Amino acid sequence: MQTRFTEEQLKERSILESADVLRRCVHCGFCTATCPTFQVLGDEADSPRGRIWMMRDMLEKGGAPDKQIVTHVDRCLSCLSCRTTCPSGVDYMRLVDHARAHIHEHYQRPMADRMFRQFVLFLLVRPKLFRFALKAGGWAAPYFSWLPGRFGALIDHVPDRIPAAPPQKATYAPHHELATQRVALLHGCATAALGGEIHHATIRVLNRLGVEVVMPKETGCCGALHHHAGDEAHARKLARKNVAAWRAAGVDAVIVNASGCGTTVKDYGHLLAEDGDVEAAAWVGDHCMEITEFMDQHDGWEAQAPEGEQVVHHTACSMMHGQGLAGVGERVLRRAGYQVQGINDAHICCGSAGSYSLFQPEISGKLKEKKAANIIQAGGTVMASANLGCMSHLASALPMPTAHNIELVDWAMGGPMPPSIKAAKAKFANH
Ligand code: SF4
Ligand code: SF4
Repeated sequence: MQTRFTEEQLKERSILESADVLRRCVHCGFCTATCPTFQVLGDEADSPRGRIWMMRDMLEKGGAPDKQIVTHVDRCLSCLSCRTTCPSGVDYMRLVDHARAHIHEHYQRPMADRMFRQFVLFLLVRPKLFRFALKAGGWAAPYFSWLPGRFGALIDHVPDRIPAAPPQKATYAPHHELATQRVALLHGCATAALGGEIHHATIRVLNRLGVEVVMPKETGCCGALHHHAGDEAHARKLARKNVAAWRAAGVDAVIVNASGCGTTVKDYGHLLAEDGDVEAAAWVGDHCMEITEFMDQHDGWEAQAPEGEQVVHHTACSMMHGQGLAGVGERVLRRAGYQVQGINDAHICCGSAGSYSLFQPEISGKLKEKKAANIIQAGGTVMASANLGCMSHLASALPMPTAHNIELVDWAMGGPMPPSIKAAKAKFANH
């Protein structure tokens, strides 16, 4: 694709990178076939190829973009299915990240939209407040489940059961006398509020392997939510804090158990390339591992899954397309002794996509229905995934409980039954 950036524009790193991405696109359109929003809306403007045209025009022109362009970029899930499909190596992630940052900087959203976005981001990155809001939402949900649109989507995210509180200590020592490794575990934002049980399972598994786990108090959200909203300054601020604390803790690696965060942390070297301690950020990016990936590469564990559990595995887009880890979740769960089923159209996003399900509830809802139908058709007793976002998003559409891959591995290694499965069994017994 031809570009017409000026010499002056090309002095900016982000423009230079986007120009390189754009030049690789040959308009073949292969990517449209695997784009979830094109499948739902059937509009070229909601396909990768259509968006690439529009983003090129917006970036070349500079300044405030048209409302129409913003609408189509907002509808993109950043699932990166198009990047996996593209035969020309178009790095769509770099381009759409740049476009979102440009929109954030130059476009004035309507007041209601702006306030809703600010409210969601404010809440999600404050785990204590978020947990409190979920508890309050639990009391209110039965009366407000009829609400349409974004507020209905908010209510739909209130879980039936508020999970255990997240770990509170800064260090979790292994059972072995000598630790073989020392890793940092990302607190996260939504995971810190809703994924306490996932964190506890991760720590138990790592400790059994002789791995010391540290969770410095100064660390928190990885910055992905702000990054995807185009607020690069805030995303960098959060990333810088994490990088500084992890490097000060002298860890061998950084573990994430929400795969959406993994894509962002692995890219810290790029996010902080012009800002802060570049070397430390690049080190973190290079030494970050998603927990299922860590288990896949670790030779020293055995497990025996409980009998009768059939796992339907949903691979999050951040695993499959973001980090190139397709097949890893299934492999690890089989190694733990589970029977594992794949699902049809596994490469298509479930519609969760971070905060997308709150901002684009109609498209997200349609993708959720399709994904849930494919999971139900596969017919397991539990749905497993590496991403809490997908689990929470899909839970209300599924007849079976959802659990994180690492909770199932922990169970198969002698840990407790995942609380979501326990709750589902208790509910079934009472009927
Ligand atoms: S598949 Fe790649 S080269 Fe073809 S239109 Fe899509 S992004 Fe462009
Ligand atoms: S990131 Fe996903 S939703 Fe966005 S254009 Fe690519 S395939 Fe479509």
